[in-house]
Formats: sequence, structure tokens, C-alpha cells
Amino acid sequence: MADPNFLSTPRRPRERRAPQERVRDWNEVNAERRLLPIIGGQAGRCMDCGIPFCHSACPLGNLIPDWNFLVSREEWANASAHLHATNNFPEFTGRLCPAPCESACVLAINADPVTIKNVEAAIADQAWQLGLETPRPPARLSGRTVAVIGSGPAGLAAAQQLTREGHATTVYERADRLGGLLRYGIPSFRLEKRLLDRRIDQLRAEGTRFHTGVEAGRDLSGEELLARFDAIVLAVGATARRDLPVPGRELDGIHQAMEYLPLANRVQEGDFARSPICAEGRHVVIVGGGDTAADCLGTALRQNAACVTQLDINPRPDDSRADDQPWPVHPKVYRLTASHEEARARPVPDHDAASAAPDDRRLFSAATLRFEDDGRGRVRALHCAEVEPAQRRPRAGTDREIRAELVLLALGFTGTERGSTLMRQLGLELDAAGNLARGRDFATGTTGVFVAGDAGRGQSLIVWAIAEGRAAAAAVDRYLTGSTALSAPIAATDRPLVL
Ligand SMILES: Cc1cc2nc3c(=O)[nH]c(=O)nc-3n(C[C@H](O)[C@H](O)[C@H](O)COP(=O)(O)OP(=O)(O)OC[C@H]3O[C@@H](n4cnc5c(N)ncnc54)[C@H](O)[C@@H]3O)c2cc1C
Ligand code: SF4
Repeated sequence: MADPNFLSTPRRPRERRAPQERVRDWNEVNAERRLLPIIGGQAGRCMDCGIPFCHSACPLGNLIPDWNFLVSREEWANASAHLHATNNFPEFTGRLCPAPCESACVLAINADPVTIKNVEAAIADQAWQLGLETPRPPARLSGRTVAVIGSGPAGLAAAQQLTREGHATTVYERADRLGGLLRYGIPSFRLEKRLLDRRIDQLRAEGTRFHTGVEAGRDLSGEELLARFDAIVLAVGATARRDLPVPGRELDGIHQAMEYLPLANRVQEGDFARSPICAEGRHVVIVGGGDTAADCLGTALRQNAACVTQLDINPRPDDSRADDQPWPVHPKVYRLTASHEEARARPVPDHDAASAAPDDRRLFSAATLRFEDDGRGRVRALHCAEVEPAQRRPRAGTDREIRAELVLLALGFTGTERGSTLMRQLGLELDAAGNLARGRDFATGTTGVFVAGDAGRGQSLIVWAIAEGRAAAAAVDRYLTGSTALSAPIAATDRPLVL
């Protein structure tokens, strides 16, 4: 056990670069070199509790107290082995996970929790830095073949597990580059794509084969897949977007976030000099309150928008846990993301003062009523009103107009694509929530076809996608060989204690 120094060492979060500096580039917001010198002391705050709630709050079952102890002693190789035993991609979760483990840390009952996510990122980065993350190809091949459809975190985790187990695994991705939402959703200022490429190179060196620009159901039929492979894992994501059916929705200048963000990411990949949907010089309104909305905000600021306002229909959460969200659940609290920090650091233009949102540019309890035309078919303004929290109905007399030349809809996703050709060809069905129907063991009604990630769970998190990929791989391995040594951290029906 580490010498628990939480009484003498305060929690110290990872430092970010100054907002004014980082909005001028697209590099990671974190100050890279500032983490290593403090992380041993932070890991040493762990009490190594008898029952580590953090461990069960992590969908991957990460062995948190074990690696905290090892990091406090700078035993990086051992820490990396413990971390990679449960998590294929800790450099992604260490940067992007909302860290339900920290909400469940026993210290969080009456003090500041251990910075678990930062310890995870430090181990992952050190593992690469020290050359520990070498490819691990299988010792022998099983003679079985698996197709994985989709290359987001669920598909990549499933592929890595299955390849390492000796099954010849091929990933088909319809986009031109691999990575799913890690590539074209999440901006590079939160995940530099070199980290994704490095991991994909590792998978490739282990023997996973990749084909991009191949849409299963169109370029490769379900029947062909069933004939060519012993098993299929569908990790096609939950890409059906929620819309905003209010008057004026059809005007030019109103886009879905997932039309806007991929183009901005493509500029970083070198596909365009300037995004075809660019916020530069425009008044931007983002409708929605989650990660996607925050990514639109950070992107619009980097594109030099004249002004950005974000509307969230939910009320402003409390600063600390509400009574109905007791420890160890992951509570809904007010969080200042890196993008909101950047918005706060930016002076609000004078001419915008009338419609000004608070200093982080977020209006809570705000519902969009309609969009205004500029007379030429383009959006000019958005009308919104305060909503009653319970009924979500606009409150009379609270209507306000916000100048809007670019509107981004970040309202979440309603499930997987309805009635796709691939679904029909494989004889698959949707469940009541609009996801691909499957049993507890990730198997669908069609023999040999499994579903992993957002496609089966609905819009979720990277940590759940990796856990799903690992668990689905174990189910596939058992289906192919009759038993499995692969770990299955979750069942398809498990639900998070995340609100
Ligand atoms: C903007 C944004 C920001 C986010 N930020 C965070 C965050 O900070 N932290 C977090 O934990 N989660 C975040 N999420 C959620 C997270 O990205 C997803 O939960 C996760 O990527 C789901 O992984 P997946 O592998 O199931 O699906 P995806 O990542 O969606 O990958 C599915 C892949 O399947 C491919 N595909 C679909 N159909 C076919 C077909 N027929 N043939 C071939 N390929 C196909 C798609 O092109 C895609 O590449 C964010 C989501 C968005 C949109
Ligand atoms: S993956 Fe997420 S929940 Fe698990 S240990 Fe890392 S930060 Fe915590």
C-alpha cells in the first residue's frame, strides 16, 4: 500500500495551457510537461481502500489502487502492465473520460478525490515514451476469421483482443480514415490524432487488417460477410442525430454538429485549407449541452468566431452533489470544460452585450423557439425562451432574440441508423431504444453476429465503448472456440451509475 499522503498533499489537477495561448492553435489543451513531476505525489494520495469503489465505478474495472501504488513508487513498467491488462487505450480515456471513478473515490465522500484519470494518462504516456507499448502479436493463429465493422473505440478494442487471441481479424470502415468519433468527432485540441495513429499502427503490427472506404451493406454485403467470416462484430456507432423541428430549421447556416466538427477535423488532417462550414467572423449559436456542444464551442473559438453563445435546455446544475445524487454515483454538477474556460477568457464584443450570456457563454434553461430569415434564405437570428424545468415549456414573456449567422445543433443521437441495408441483409432488429437488438452476451438473433459499442448501448462514452469491445471479443472467442480466457468487464445489459 502507498503511504497515503492525502492529509498533507492537496489534490492538484493537470494543468492546461493558458486559454489565450491555446485558442491560437489546435494542439492538446493540456500542458504536457507539467504532469509527470506531480503525478507520483497525486497517486500517493490513494488510500488503497479495502473495497475500492473507484474500481467498480470504472466500466473497464481498471485496477486503480494497484497502479496508484506503483506510480507513487515510479514503477512505470509494472504500472503499465496493470493498466493495459484492463484497458486497451488508456491514452484516450486518460484524456477524455469523465472519470466516474473519481466521483466514487472514497476520499470524495468528504474531501478531494485522487486524480485517477491523470494518473492513467501519465502511465499511458510513460509506457509509450519508455518503449513499453510494443506490438503483441499472437503466438499462434486459431484458423478462425472475424470481421469487425466500424473502427471507433469499440471496434478497435474488439479487433485488438481478437487478433491477440489468434483470430484473423479484419476491420472494415466506411470513412476514409480510421478511428470513428475519435477521428472525426472529437477535435485535435482534446485528442491529437497522432496518438490515435500510433495505436492503430500497433494494431496493424499485431496483425489486424484494415480496409477504409468500405461500407458494409453497400460495398460488402451482409451475405458476403457471413460467407467469408466465422464471426462478425458490428461496432457501427449510434449516428442517427436528433433534430430541432422548429420554424426556420430549413434555413441556410443551420447545421448538425456532426456536419461541422468532421470538416474542422479534416482541415487538421490536411484535406482542406479552410473548412467549408467555418465560424470565422460569424455570430454562432450552439444548441445543446454535452461534450459535442463543448467541442463545437472550442472549434468555433479557434476559427475566430465573432461571438459564440451556447443554449442548454437543462437548468444550470449545482456546483456540488445534489442530495438525490449521493456518493458514489457520478453526479450532474456544473463543469467548466476546457472550451468554456476559453470562452470565459475571451472578451465579449460590446455590440453583443444586449444578448450576452454569462461569462462562460452558456445560457441554461433555454429552449429554441424559431429561426429568423435574413430575407435571402439564410439564418439571421434565433429566438429562445426560458423553460420551466419540469415541463420544459417556454415561460411567457421570456422570449429573446440572439443574433445567429451560424447555428450548430448538438442535441445528441437517437440510436443507430434506422433500416440500414446491412441490418436487412443480416436480419437484425432494433430494440425499443433504437439500438441494434442483442442479448446480454452481445449476440444478435443471427448466428455469429455480435454488436458492440454505441450501436448496441446507444450514445455513450469511450470507456464504455472499449469495455463493450473487450466483452464482445470474449463472447466471440467463446462462440468460436467453446471457451475464453479474455476478460469481459461488462454485460451488454449493464448500465452506468452515471447520471
Ligand atoms: C463530438 C463528440 C465528442 C465526444 N466526446 C467524448 C468524450 O470527451 N469522452 C467520452 O467518453 N465520449 C465522448 N463522446 C462519445 C464517444 O465518442 C462515443 O461514445 C464512442 O466513440 C463510441 O464508440 P463506437 O466505437 O461505438 O462508435 P463510433 O466511434 O461512432 O464508431 C463507429 C464507426 O463505424 C463506422 N461505420 C458505421 N456504419 C458502417 C458500415 N456500414 N460499414 C463500415 N463502417 C461503418 C463509422 O464510420 C464509425 O467510424 C463524444 C462524441 C461526440 C460525437
Ligand atoms: S477509464 Fe475512466 S472511469 Fe476508468 S479509471 Fe480511467 S478515468 Fe476512471
